[in-house]
Amino acid sequence: MKPSFFDLTYDDLKNLLIEKGFSPFGATQIFDWVYKKWVHQPEEWSNVSKAAKEFFKENYDFALLKVVWNGLSKDGTRKFLVKMNDGQTVESVAIAARDRLTLCVSSQVGCAVGCTFCHTATQGLKRHLKTSEVVLQYVTIQKWLMDEVSSDVKLTNIVYMGQGEPLHNFENMKKATLIFMSEKGLGLGQRRITLSTSGLVPAIEKLAEDFPPVNIALSLHSARNDVRTELMPINKVYDLERLFKAIKLIPLKAHRRITYEYLLIDGMNDSMDDVVALANLLNSKESKINLIPFNEFPGSKYKRPSEQKIMWFLDQMIKRGFTCTIRTTKGSDILAACGQLKSEFEKLNLWDNERPVVIPSIASSVLQNQAR
Ligand code: SF4
Repeated sequence: MKPSFFDLTYDDLKNLLIEKGFSPFGATQIFDWVYKKWVHQPEEWSNVSKAAKEFFKENYDFALLKVVWNGLSKDGTRKFLVKMNDGQTVESVAIAARDRLTLCVSSQVGCAVGCTFCHTATQGLKRHLKTSEVVLQYVTIQKWLMDEVSSDVKLTNIVYMGQGEPLHNFENMKKATLIFMSEKGLGLGQRRITLSTSGLVPAIEKLAEDFPPVNIALSLHSARNDVRTELMPINKVYDLERLFKAIKLIPLKAHRRITYEYLLIDGMNDSMDDVVALANLLNSKESKINLIPFNEFPGSKYKRPSEQKIMWFLDQMIKRGFTCTIRTTKGSDILAACGQLKSEFEKLNLWDNERPVVIPSIASSVLQNQAR
């Protein structure tokens, strides 16, 4: 099988051109065709030499992923199930909010971390995604939106919050990030990419030195070791003390903070003791807390707190000087919300015959398939 073109960073491409005796300047033109003009047939690259075009046509694969299913939520969130060459599938979710269209991408098929609130965890880890499979989630869905919705629709942000622990797949996610950020191609700025981690300490320690500078979100979910261990078994190995030692190594530029994701679960981590522990653990000037009321899924053992309890928790953190928000749940009716992703074909039966109701708002309308 030919290697995928989408595994190549801009520097890889330049080096490849040099190695094969072509001009390295061709890298700029080729990235421009592939990532800006969306032309993936080398024979159509009019300003590239004939020999280089033939080389890429013969030796590289430009195939996109296959969208095997997509579902539109009532709030305009659209979930995609995409299939890779070996038949494995992962989910990517396009979320429209305000002036952004964010793509939540997966980093692994399944996940090894085993958080007890997470639907993906029930799959276990099947494999890491290749660099190309991460990049192609973006490219495939961007093309799908242009073809099926409107040529003007543009994905503006990426979050690594889909299936998998991105830092467990460090090298491939690093390369994918370099490709997303390359000014010669997609040119996504560092503030438009957010990496979310469950707290893999050895990889966090390498972030500052060895990963492009992107926004960081940490899935905290409790400031008490016993509760966090129950929710996230990774805390047994890397407890809060080790985790925060590693987090201090991440350089925070002016006006930038780490976001702490806090899943609010009824009777688990929503008491006054939890408020106090959280306020003691975090520095209110350097932290932003994002409260995520738990999204129940079939078979989940946890419950969502009442709206009153959620507002109380928010109020307690704000009173203590924290920037604290509640993440609006997006796409929960199609199991696209945080912690609900799992690639399983049975879900197709659930949604295939349903025509989701569409809320006509400016934000959600960009995702609607106007062709249908
Ligand atoms: S929440 Fe994230 S890290 Fe935890 S099991 Fe699920 S996918 Fe893995």
